[in-house]
This record gives sequence, C-alpha cells and structure tokens, in this order.
Amino acid sequence: MLSFPPALQKLIKELSKLPSVGEKTATRLAYHLVANDRDLARSLGEALKVASAQVRLCQRCFFLSEEELCVICRNTNRDHGLLCVVEKPVDLVAIERVGEYKGHYHVLHGLWAPLRGQGPESMRLKELIERVKEHPPREVIVATSATVEGDATALYIGRMLADLGIGATRPAQGIPKGGELEYADDVTLSRAFAARSSLS
Ligand SMILES: [Zn+2]
Repeated sequence: MLSFPPALQKLIKELSKLPSVGEKTATRLAYHLVANDRDLARSLGEALKVASAQVRLCQRCFFLSEEELCVICRNTNRDHGLLCVVEKPVDLVAIERVGEYKGHYHVLHGLWAPLRGQGPESMRLKELIERVKEHPPREVIVATSATVEGDATALYIGRMLADLGIGATRPAQGIPKGGELEYADDVTLSRAFAARSSLS
C-alpha cells in the first residue's frame, strides 16, 4: 500500500471503514474506480455527495427521507392505529416489499444490547414513547429480529407499552431463531405478521 499515491491510499482507507469491507476489498474497489472506471468514480462521488446532503431521518418515524416527513408518514391512507417498530430502515423496506402491512412505522436505529454496552438510550425509544403517548395506536407490532438482542428489545418495549396501557404484539412464527428480519423472504414475513402474539 505504501507504494500507492497518497490520494489512492486515502481512498482505500476510507473504503475499508465500510461495513464488511476489509483492506483487500477496499484496495480492489479503489483500484478499479481509479484505474478502470473513472466515469463510475465520478458518478459515484456525485451520488455520495447528493445523498449525504439530502437524505435525512424522518422527524416522526426516523425512516430515511428527503423531506421532514417520509413518504409513509405523508401517506394519509395508512392506518394510524397500527405502529410497527423495526430496528433498521432496511427492515421497513423488507416489510413494505411484502405489501400487506398498511400501518405506520417507528425505526429504532439500534437495539437494547447490554452486553455490548448499549442501553435503551442507544435507540430511538424515548421518541417512540412520546409518540404513542401523544397518539396511542390500537396495536404496536414489535418486529425486531428474532435474535437475542431483538427479543430482549421487544420484551423491554412490550413492558414499557404495557405500563402505558398500549397493547404490543410480536410477529410470532416464521422468522427463524437468530434470523435477521431484513433477510426473511416475503412469504415468511407475511406469515410472521399474520400470526403475531401478545407481548404482555
Ligand atoms: Zn416517517
């Protein structure tokens, strides 16, 4: 790496900070962009600049949006009585892909993971509680992944909501134990949502 020009070294270093990209892959990508596909390098650079400047979090549900409220929160045809809590924006996209759920969402951007030093403050939980206090939904579906941390987070949220008198459920079947929601197929997700059970 020392023999590469400094600008290329810098690019490799930045690329290797991406999730699942090690130094070897970063080197291969950087070399490809700079040596083989300069048009892609330019359009990628432009897309990164525009996306990082324009895409932000929805003020209500914390999904990604270019406006104050995201496309789901702006949709007046969706059911305000249903609120689905997910960990990441990609989980919301996976549920939307199935196309059956017509309620609203709340994206936590984290999980309760005490073993990794992540407490309730590491997710958008305070905002969820404020939101449901202001507009109590009929049902909150806690669709965090079926992992240890996802289950712990769901139980924690279920207890907090029970204290507020709000019913919470969890997609019960289908999502394999230890499975990340974003990788579940459409039929599995659809069944999991149809067969949800109470958390309290
Ligand atoms: Zn939103």
